[in-house]
Amino acid sequence: MRWAFTMLKAVGPIRRIPRISNFLTACAISNFHNTKIVAFGSTCRVDNPPEDDPTLTTLLKAGTEAITLFGKSWTLHVTDVLRATLEENLQIIEDSCAWLKENGREVIYDAEHFFDGYKADPEYALETLLAAQAGGAEVLVLCDTNGGTMPYQIQEIISAIQPRLDVPLGIHTHNDAGMAVANSIVALEMGATHVQGTINGYGERCGNANLCSVIPNIEFKLGKTAIGAENLKRLMELSRFVSEIANVYHDHRQPYVGESAFAHKAGVHVDAMLKQPATYEHCDAEAVGNQRRFLLSEQSGGGAVAAKLHHLIPGLDKRHPTVQKLLQKIKQLEHEGYVFEAAEASFEILARQILGSIRRPFKLINYRTINRKSVAGSEVEAIVKIEIDGQIYHTVGEGDGPVNALDSALRLALESVYPTLKDVRLEDYKVRVLSSADGTAAKVRVLVESSDRQRVWNTVGVSENIIEASWMALVDSLTYKLLLDDIIVVG
Ligand SMILES: [Zn+2]
Repeated sequence: MRWAFTMLKAVGPIRRIPRISNFLTACAISNFHNTKIVAFGSTCRVDNPPEDDPTLTTLLKAGTEAITLFGKSWTLHVTDVLRATLEENLQIIEDSCAWLKENGREVIYDAEHFFDGYKADPEYALETLLAAQAGGAEVLVLCDTNGGTMPYQIQEIISAIQPRLDVPLGIHTHNDAGMAVANSIVALEMGATHVQGTINGYGERCGNANLCSVIPNIEFKLGKTAIGAENLKRLMELSRFVSEIANVYHDHRQPYVGESAFAHKAGVHVDAMLKQPATYEHCDAEAVGNQRRFLLSEQSGGGAVAAKLHHLIPGLDKRHPTVQKLLQKIKQLEHEGYVFEAAEASFEILARQILGSIRRPFKLINYRTINRKSVAGSEVEAIVKIEIDGQIYHTVGEGDGPVNALDSALRLALESVYPTLKDVRLEDYKVRVLSSADGTAAKVRVLVESSDRQRVWNTVGVSENIIEASWMALVDSLTYKLLLDDIIVVG
């Protein structure tokens, strides 16, 4: 199986050469294990012989072992965009491939708009492939450039052309009709051995074929080897890494590699899953580096609650009174606006309070925040009074906003007794206004994500007052850190 993850565009004028050389020099000295960098550009122009064509000479100067060359398959593009005759187009495809081959390059030929071209003029579209084959191309990649072809059309067209070609086929699809992955799989099923796509499906318009779906589909559904079982276990990590670099939110609904891909919520699903995972999972989450999650809510039922408490009470039955008591509590809190599926640390604290296996790290006496706004700017101050083991701590904190100031004041008091709290960082803070059904003041839900550089946890607070909701989530966050460090565990 061959892969085309990275392409370097060399379409166009000479001024791009320095940039390409720098990039490729960096690639040449990098020690890739599996990756092969491929330069990418178009066939020569009609009025240029290959050796004088700026694009082809640039591609050659790129110094890559392989070059992907794209050419026109659709008569409309040849006459109206390229403004060449149909015969001239066939000639430049063959000549361009042949010249790069003569210069020692492996040639991957991308037949741009192949499927649309075939629909318009089947014989001509096939002739373009035969021209690339005659020029020595190693792979003929069929492109659904506009992304509008259906899987059954891919199947019909490949069946029709396959007997007339001697060179292996590849596939390049776009997702404009939501078919990019399906179309790639159909082509692979029919014998194609080369796929072009991108991690997470990133690409122009609706994106390219998502390799994070294509690769596990090859391994699990087609029963063929793509990257092998060991590499496959790092797929989710790779998907997250690429979205991090692209600075794009990691889509948690992505098949295989999304955080929700193996998350179960409905009670009947959770119960069945605990008995037999195959009942609601089509493959093993760990095989792609993901993990099964049970989302906690009233809907998920006793099975999910018991599973979540497994580390505290192994073998706990879902009908146990403690589980039922917790479920009742979750039901009541969800009614008030809490969500525990996004705040599992708050659930753990709640469960431990009911089980009596946690000691409160402090007792609140009072807190207050002061906002001072003047022409000179604004200042925020928080004053916190708490009791730890019979001793009163009265501290003042400043911050950019009231929550930040409260956090500073609370930590100032707590850190003298619990020094590991210095490691806690508030990574994310989200506020949602909950609609008010009965005409009273709307509530706000605050979700806080915290970390101590090793672990990440989420907590929740709900109140009509945003500062109170934030305080609750903040207190849960610091309490959970002390739980993780075994400082306030009872029994
Ligand atoms: Zn494309």
